Amino acid sequence: SAEVVLVGRSNVGKSTLMRELTGHTVTTGSKPGVTRSPNHYDWVAEDFVLTDLPGFGFMEGVPEERREAIKTDVVQYVETHAEAILTGIVVVDGKSAVDIIDRHSERGAVPHDVELFHFLRDVGIPPVVAVNKMDKVEDRDDRLDALCDRLGLVPPWQQWHETIAPISAKRGQITPLTEAVRHHLHEANRDDLL
Ligand code: GDP
Repeated sequence: SAEVVLVGRSNVGKSTLMRELTGHTVTTGSKPGVTRSPNHYDWVAEDFVLTDLPGFGFMEGVPEERREAIKTDVVQYVETHAEAILTGIVVVDGKSAVDIIDRHSERGAVPHDVELFHFLRDVGIPPVVAVNKMDKVEDRDDRLDALCDRLGLVPPWQQWHETIAPISAKRGQITPLTEAVRHHLHEANRDDLL
């Protein structure tokens, strides 16, 4: 069956989202960098395998060498399975994502979320950005437009509903994400990739 991969820095709500999607309790972010191998789960609503990938340079406090090893593993996993991977869900915190991206950029570094977004595209996997914790965001449209801008997507965000999915995992409001994933499933079926 088709595979959906899930990535995100710690504390963005990845475990909460996994629980919503799979119905299982999932521990992801508790010990960053400890899990090097991908974990597979079933997506309840669809015939997908959901793969929780370890952090992609998202791990503060993990030695550089180990981070690089994990990154190499993730890149290799994604490249090897690219044909079967329907979409890559990049989970971000809607409240802080733009500020974190801008801080990295000011230091001359490529922000991890942005790097990952482009990496997925480069290997032919459509990324979906799950913009989580939207229940805490007041300037919704401005925040989402700014995020689009940082990802190289021309605002307004509403025209990117297959790529930008504002959600609140904690409140169980994840319909924009499930719809974006279904969009890519239909595209893949149409292109006869599955
Ligand atoms: P992980 O480290 O990415 O796996 O993050 P967790 O799922 O453990 O969540 C980190 C924190 O964010 C927890 O306190 C969650 O309750 C909280 N959280 C997760 N999703 C949401 C959300 O949609 N809205 C809000 N306000 N908090 C959330």
